[in-house]
Amino acid sequence: MKEEKKEKVFLVGFVHPGEFIEDTQDHLDELGLLAQTAGGTVKNSLIQERRRPDAAYFISKGNAGKIALEVAGQGIETVIFDDDLSPAQIRNLEKILSSKVLDRSTLILDIFARRAKTREAMTQVELAQLKHLLPRLTRRWTHLSRQVGGIGTRGVGETQLEIDRRIIKRRIARLSKDLDRIERGRQERRKSRDASFKVAIIGYTNAGKTSIFNAFTEARAFVQDRLFATLDSVVRRCILSGENEILLIDTVGFIRKLPVHLVASFRSTLEETVVSDLLINAVDLSNPRYEEHIAVTDTVRMDLGILNKPCITVFNKIDLVDRSVIERARKFRPRSLFVSALKSRNLDEIEKEIVHFMNLDKEEIDLRVKPGREDFIAFMYRSGDVLRKEYVDCYISVRFRGTREKIKQVYRTAETEEALV
Ligand code: GDP
Ligand code: MG
Repeated sequence: MKEEKKEKVFLVGFVHPGEFIEDTQDHLDELGLLAQTAGGTVKNSLIQERRRPDAAYFISKGNAGKIALEVAGQGIETVIFDDDLSPAQIRNLEKILSSKVLDRSTLILDIFARRAKTREAMTQVELAQLKHLLPRLTRRWTHLSRQVGGIGTRGVGETQLEIDRRIIKRRIARLSKDLDRIERGRQERRKSRDASFKVAIIGYTNAGKTSIFNAFTEARAFVQDRLFATLDSVVRRCILSGENEILLIDTVGFIRKLPVHLVASFRSTLEETVVSDLLINAVDLSNPRYEEHIAVTDTVRMDLGILNKPCITVFNKIDLVDRSVIERARKFRPRSLFVSALKSRNLDEIEKEIVHFMNLDKEEIDLRVKPGREDFIAFMYRSGDVLRKEYVDCYISVRFRGTREKIKQVYRTAETEEALV
């Protein structure tokens, strides 16, 4: 089997004020997983402890020198920083390290670019990349023309900058327009499913959202021990116990310090979450930083204005942890569920909770049933609650209560069987 050649990378973390070095280490571990997802292999890492970042190199010049030695010695191709760097810092570091230098946002954008499969996702990612690039490009050129300076260079630099900027801006406008059109199509499709009860699975990346989704739908969506295995939200109809039909939605995961342009570009994908009736917040209980993951998810929920939507917290991967970890999480979030998607443990509890919320969502309707259509009324008894049944002159007056899904079914059956007056 042909193996993809792995890019050798070196990671750099920074202990910010108020942080412990252990926090920085955990964040570096996550950065390592991101780097692997992007096709790299981590050779070594360094943590900088300092009051504030250096304006020119972000880290101390001494540490930059140390990394430069490792780069040369181990043939490292890329040095990745867990923080966002200024264009000047990137340039200075590339010079001193003689390697490619990436920051966290660029790395995440790169992963999204690799993962994008549908036209919508590809458009969203390119848009985010260009928006990320535009200000950097400007500053880089400004810097360059100032640095080189002198007669003849200024004009050229500025012209080039204008041309580049114009091309990128035109492309951004074009992509935004494309995205608008794609989104309208999405809204149309959404409208046609409006009557169904919608459940969206959200949460930090790698929590097991797609695994839970697959367990319920018996779909074979892409599951991988990688961050952001899926970018597009996937919607599938599925039947729960007691013939409750729902639409289950698998969404792209969230992550700490998600580049701001990505959040904006992926808003439309996340809109699926906004129009859903119930959220399942999947949490990887085996990750020691799960509380931080929940906080990140809460922040995104707040940004999307869905903090008040009913939400079930589902701690996943209980097969990997001790009882004590479960007990602590239960105290942290009472009323949460504990499951293992991989080992199919307690998944029926999720099902029960969904059905519980569907029942809260019941509505009542009044119908005039044709006389003698007891068969249709029996069907209503099976579908929900018949609260009142009165024989009036030329029809039977029935008050029915059921889930929105059942009400839709009752209307549909009434129409095909011509059961109403
Ligand atoms: P997503 O990013 O939230 O969609 O996460 P995935 O469903 O893609 O799962 C991420 C990784 O976690 C995969 O390697 C899964 O096999 C693994 N995983 C998911 N659920 C469980 C679980 O209950 N137990 C264990 N041990 N691994 C799990
Ligand atoms: Mg997934």
